[in-house]
Amino acid sequence: MSLQERDKKHLWHPLTQHKLHPDHLAITKAKEALLFDEQGNEYIDGIASWYTCMYGHCNDYITSKVAEQMQQLDHVVFAGFTHEPAIKLSEALIDILPKNQEKVFFSDNGSTSVDVAIKMALQYHFNNGEKRGKIIALEDGFHGDTFGAMSVSGLSVYNGPFEEFFIDVARIPVPTKDNFESVKQQLVEILKTEKVAAFIYEPLVQGAAAMKMYDADLLDELLDIVKEYGALAIADEVMTGFGKTGKHFASEHLTNQPDIICLAKSLTGGLVPMAITSCSEKIYNAFLSDDIAKGFFHGHTYSANPIACTAALAGIELLRSEDIQANIQTIIEAHKTFDVHIKKHPKVARTRQLGVIYALDLDIEMERYGNLRNKLFKFFMDNGVCLRPLGNTIYILAPFVITKKQLDKVYNTIEKALDSL
Ligand SMILES: *Cc1c(COP(=O)(O)O)cnc(C)c1O
Repeated sequence: MSLQERDKKHLWHPLTQHKLHPDHLAITKAKEALLFDEQGNEYIDGIASWYTCMYGHCNDYITSKVAEQMQQLDHVVFAGFTHEPAIKLSEALIDILPKNQEKVFFSDNGSTSVDVAIKMALQYHFNNGEKRGKIIALEDGFHGDTFGAMSVSGLSVYNGPFEEFFIDVARIPVPTKDNFESVKQQLVEILKTEKVAAFIYEPLVQGAAAMKMYDADLLDELLDIVKEYGALAIADEVMTGFGKTGKHFASEHLTNQPDIICLAKSLTGGLVPMAITSCSEKIYNAFLSDDIAKGFFHGHTYSANPIACTAALAGIELLRSEDIQANIQTIIEAHKTFDVHIKKHPKVARTRQLGVIYALDLDIEMERYGNLRNKLFKFFMDNGVCLRPLGNTIYILAPFVITKKQLDKVYNTIEKALDSL
């Protein structure tokens, strides 16, 4: 039996209605920007396996560092103990994070990094003697699938069974030049009438909302208002972090810096799961007390796993390397050239780019996971390119190590797909 057949017996896949989608492609190998299936077909990973393996699959530098670490220390409880990989990672991360970030707190995935951020924000005010229970979030935002993260996600298409158990959230539209005055008014109204703990946002690019982009100066103004009312700013950089927007973090495009930042996806270069919630000294200090209950009583068994920390540290070294920084610039320029060309295609409604993130909307209405979208996905895979359209948006977020030839193949395949519509 093929892996694909054996898969059906016991496995339950994420985000899947198995009755409608029983088949899952078995991938047996991955290297750099390529995935290989059990038939030996290869695919260019045009979305870096959900924006994780940005330095390429099975990156030699990361795997060699991790192999060394595996001989030295596998895991140790992080409550009451510490170790060099976590210390080195904290130093490397604070060195590249926005200037006001001082402390890092570990968890396991993007959703937990958001839950940690929300709990930090709620307890920050609680410890300061203020009960603030409301979180403001952007419409169409996505922050993960655990309860806290799911609650603040506006993009909750399939959340029906859970909605009555959500934490208290108010939503404002994503700011545009046209709606900005109204969005500001809505924000001020909520801040004035409700006890707001924090505002959570994906800075500049909303990944799951099909790479929806919005302007830094608009977000900056919203953050001015949020800060004026004493609410905290939580930047969910789970998708945007680590070079994808052309800077190490999307928040660097702004003047206002967040109080709290969520990181996951490419933190370990896609090798193992790990997440970090970083915060400023001000947040951390609100938990320092002779009263034990004012501490942050949140912890995951695998917090700061040394293997994952080692992968993350190697990833940051790669991110800062001349090679990767040059690759990022090459991809940015290549996308710009492709954009000039593909924009003229009659099936393209609009395009957008920030750093290595590129998206185009088709001039056709499509359901998020409807038939036409599935047809398009199949077309890409049949042509050896792994791109997962979201509704009528086709986006590229390839590993930084993708070659010029592979990138050209991605572009050509998109154009062929448009021609086939
Ligand atoms: C993917 C994502 C999450 C959730 O991360 P998981 O590791 O899937 O739990 C949260 N926020 C953003 C912006 C994301 O893109």
